[in-house]
Amino acid sequence: NTKPNSILYLDGVSVSFDGFKALNSLSFVIEPGELRAIIGPNGAGKTTMMDIITGKTRPDSGEVFFKGSIDLTQKDEAEIAQLGIGRKFQKPTVFESHTVWDNLELALNRKRGVFSTLFYRLTAEDRARIEEILSTVRLTNRKDDFAANLSHGQKQWLEIGMLLAQEPELLLVDEPVAGMTDAETAETAVLLKEIAKTRSVVVVEHDMGFIRDLGVKVTCLAEGSVLAEGSIDFVSADQKVIENYLGR
Ligand code: ADP
Repeated sequence: NTKPNSILYLDGVSVSFDGFKALNSLSFVIEPGELRAIIGPNGAGKTTMMDIITGKTRPDSGEVFFKGSIDLTQKDEAEIAQLGIGRKFQKPTVFESHTVWDNLELALNRKRGVFSTLFYRLTAEDRARIEEILSTVRLTNRKDDFAANLSHGQKQWLEIGMLLAQEPELLLVDEPVAGMTDAETAETAVLLKEIAKTRSVVVVEHDMGFIRDLGVKVTCLAEGSVLAEGSIDFVSADQKVIENYLGR
């Protein structure tokens, strides 16, 4: 039961922890090149959903297909990352004592299985790619600064840049704007839309202003399944969404 023209397809995914259904027949489809926002109350299953996609958790039942037909439920975390799925966790995990440039260089080398900048010389092409990523994540003028000296928002952008160095086809981003200034939040919406021009992005966020700025299709989860899906205006007018999430 595959979906040929999709980057990601969850079909009836369920998982329980100690008898509690964290995901209850969760199904949705993400199209190639789509930027999708996922919202929902605490405990809705958003983190569990990310864990299932990345192979950290295995579902009890249901299927997860990448690029139409690759069954992710049969693969482990390393294989799934290798296939082209990148995940950004909520807290940035950049190397604080390295420069912005070196963080990106390390990420590029990691893609090749090289774990130290000592052992690999960057090609002109590598340098061009790092410059391109710096520009995408708004850090060109900070490239020689230590990551420790970046703002919280800039650290988040740097980590997104490090994920881009891995060239994922699908990027999963968990609450990127939590703790950001209003200006950084607005810039992050623009940045993610730019990134989604060359790959698919799934972003989990609580910040409704940010979700409105994105202006993309929204999936609202509650109790482990889809409550409503559509434009933010459509979803936020849904009575079930108001009762379970927005109105609380
Ligand atoms: P969200 O990210 O939307 O807040 P989660 O996916 O973190 O939701 O959690 C969904 C539900 O599953 C919660 O009630 C949570 O307590 C439970 N849960 C998640 N992971 C585990 C786990 N490893 N063990 C036990 N319960 C879990």
